[in-house]
Amino acid sequence: MIIVLKQGTPAEDIRQLADRLESKGVAVSHFSDARRDFLGLIGDTSALDEHHIKANKVVEQIIRVQEPYKKANRKFHPDNSVIQVGDQTIGGDTLGVIAGPCSVESEEQIIQVAKRVKAAGANFLRGGAFKPRTSPYSFQGLELEGLRMLQAAKKETGLPIVTELMSTSWIDAFVESVDMIQIGARNMQNFDLLKEVGKTQTPVLLKRGLSATYKEWLMSAEYIMSEGNENVILCERGIRTFETETRNALDIQAVPAIKKLSHLPIVVDPSHAGGESYLVEAGAKAGIVAGADGLMIEVHNDPENAWSDGEQCLTPDAFAVLMDKARKLAEVEGRSLQQAAEILGK
Ligand code: PEP
Ligand code: MN
Repeated sequence: MIIVLKQGTPAEDIRQLADRLESKGVAVSHFSDARRDFLGLIGDTSALDEHHIKANKVVEQIIRVQEPYKKANRKFHPDNSVIQVGDQTIGGDTLGVIAGPCSVESEEQIIQVAKRVKAAGANFLRGGAFKPRTSPYSFQGLELEGLRMLQAAKKETGLPIVTELMSTSWIDAFVESVDMIQIGARNMQNFDLLKEVGKTQTPVLLKRGLSATYKEWLMSAEYIMSEGNENVILCERGIRTFETETRNALDIQAVPAIKKLSHLPIVVDPSHAGGESYLVEAGAKAGIVAGADGLMIEVHNDPENAWSDGEQCLTPDAFAVLMDKARKLAEVEGRSLQQAAEILGK
């Protein structure tokens, strides 16, 4: 339930009403847009007497929120959320670019790629240290050693680190050493994991599950947010369809649809959607035009010999070409890419 308050309602009246509602057992969050204040009520609102609330002199209107996701709902937060990640942000007017290899393979490799993607304009470094592989016989990641290598690359370049967490056992190490925790497609509905990252304040990049609906995806965001961590960024990375020529199908409509339903930022990952490097440029451009808040692109120094996802990785040179095109396209759309130059001092 959302209570719309009359324009110019004094802060003291808002607080009194919020306290009264909280005493009835619901959680109340106060938010406002340019003109008015709102109280968002979460929990069992069935016991509240709407007529009674409406009779309050400061209440203009009551809106029932039908959707099961509340904190992720745009009705609860009319403005776009801008999430702080390290010294960068995601959401708002500029686009962020997360780039790097699928897996961290060595300190030398991750530092080399980090320098190249930064020079091309990326402002976040990705690299998997714990890898969700289809086969138990495939490379599983360098684990804690990989996290240490990512930190070394951050030290060299200043780029905030984004990497995937697969198990609650490693959560403390992640909170200590990464700037954004990635929850991968395969774990989008690992509710225990979602609740645990929800208890931290580290930003979470929540990838869409392989066959998740928008509602299921937003309910997973709600799991994280309901525990207290509202720093959630969604990532469209392609969904399963009947098509076998491409790895997944990039659902470009997810961008405007999610923006309508939610205030959370959404980035597009054309690398995991396409599964092959020749598909990455089209997907990235489509993401920008659709209004995404950023891109995630896999970049490898030697794709042919990559330990995972080599077919879809761009070389650093190809990534630089894509970034030039992305910059121009963003301008056409009246937006811009965040300036990695702003963090070049590091
Ligand atoms: C990844 O980002 O390397 C990854 C495994 O992505 P997804 O969970 O989208 O498959
Ligand atoms: Mn990958």
